[in-house]
Amino acid sequence: MSHVHIIGGGLAGLSAAVELAPQAQVTLYEAGPACGGRARSFHDKALDTVIDNGNHLLLSANPYTFRYLDLLGARETLRGPGKPIFPWYDVEKYLSWTLRLSSGRIPFWLLGRGTRVPGMTLKEVMALSRLMKADEQACVADCLLPGEFSRRLLEPLAISALNTDIKRGSARLLGNIVRQTLAKGGSACCPWMAAHGLSESFVTPAMRYLESCHAEVLTGTRVSSLRYEGGRVIALETPSRTVALGAEDAVIMAVPSPVAVGLVPGLEGPDEFESIANAHYRLHQPLQPRGALREAGFMGLVGGVAEWVFLHDEVLSVTVSAANRYADWRNEDMLERIWAELHQALDPLLEYPLPEAVPEARLIREKRATFAATPEQDKKRPGARTAYANLALAGDWTDTGLPSTIEGAIQSGLVAVGALGFRTAFAGAE
Ligand SMILES: Cc1cc2nc3c(=O)[nH]c(=O)nc-3n(C[C@H](O)[C@H](O)[C@H](O)COP(=O)(O)OP(=O)(O)OC[C@H]3O[C@@H](n4cnc5c(N)ncnc54)[C@H](O)[C@@H]3O)c2cc1C
Repeated sequence: MSHVHIIGGGLAGLSAAVELAPQAQVTLYEAGPACGGRARSFHDKALDTVIDNGNHLLLSANPYTFRYLDLLGARETLRGPGKPIFPWYDVEKYLSWTLRLSSGRIPFWLLGRGTRVPGMTLKEVMALSRLMKADEQACVADCLLPGEFSRRLLEPLAISALNTDIKRGSARLLGNIVRQTLAKGGSACCPWMAAHGLSESFVTPAMRYLESCHAEVLTGTRVSSLRYEGGRVIALETPSRTVALGAEDAVIMAVPSPVAVGLVPGLEGPDEFESIANAHYRLHQPLQPRGALREAGFMGLVGGVAEWVFLHDEVLSVTVSAANRYADWRNEDMLERIWAELHQALDPLLEYPLPEAVPEARLIREKRATFAATPEQDKKRPGARTAYANLALAGDWTDTGLPSTIEGAIQSGLVAVGALGFRTAFAGAE
């Protein structure tokens, strides 16, 4: 039986490991103290509770993610309204509404006052087909038409999906998301999130599964270099040992782009990054939301700093994407400003308003949250195959056709498995 060494225990590496474990001997090397990478939970000392490094929103149109969860028996660890509803608030205009997509492909929701974006015109919807037809050079802003459909839906969708400003973000990548979601109808757009934490949904079940398949997971183990000979990887080095590879053995490199570029001679990858900031506020009693906020468990905001707010039992968490623009803001100022916006948006939708003063809070800035999803960076993304016969690449930064997402990471793990000649569920696998 061949032995596959997987370097990197983020969701791309875990996806590859889970796929391979029934077919090969697997060893996974993770530099950090636990797996999960950029999608992980941890106990925060300051807030004295478990939080996620950042809120992650999934949509029902994420086939590889749901397959991964089903394989691990972990689908039940997600929560969501079970229908395509998105409560919104416009901080500039003091206006709240709920987007209620119709489930089928025919977008009846565009016609109803209570279902569509307030103030939009039907002409603006043309932007969706412009995005889906966009060429590789086009930016999102080139495809949008001025109006509230753009300002209140497509711009926030773009900035959260691409984590890049619309003037620089790739229209092709956003067009791919539109094709898989809005164009397929509301049933492809149901929002889902981890009910108790990212690790509980994506990592712990994978660890259990890998253990049951006798796969080896080595946390706290950084791979520092690889040795190559005759067009193959022949060994990998960790600080404590050299692992020699047999003739049938292979490697999947599932580390972030700059690490992979440092380990694989001649490899190029994305080299510009965007940050995401998450503000976590500790609550001393659970909120009691009403109406659509209660149904959805989250809300989108436009016109302010906060972009998405997620209601957890003990914590209110807010996401700010493309956050390089706030690099100069002091954390306290960000936390105060966001808290003021939360008062404005949430108080009318809660049985009891939020506490006046900012509660204990924590701002986490993931400086390299994703590669910058610009047309230039998109061109730098390599496929899974490399110049070395027994080495494949995985990671959200490889050429998945998607921006940096959980779906892209999980898909990339499957593609890497296929590139090495193993069985895989990826429909387009090589
Ligand atoms: C704050 C935030 C919010 C996000 N929100 C969303 C969202 O709402 N929806 C969504 O779909 N996606 C979201 N994403 C993106 C998503 O988290 C990523 O696309 C995905 O987790 C990337 O997984 P990966 O395995 O490709 O990379 P990573 O998670 O970066 O995994 C790489 C792993 O390799 C390890 N490693 C590095 N060097 C070595 C080495 N030399 N040896 C061994 N191990 C090594 C790292 O420690 C890491 O665990 C968000 C990301 C962030 C940061």
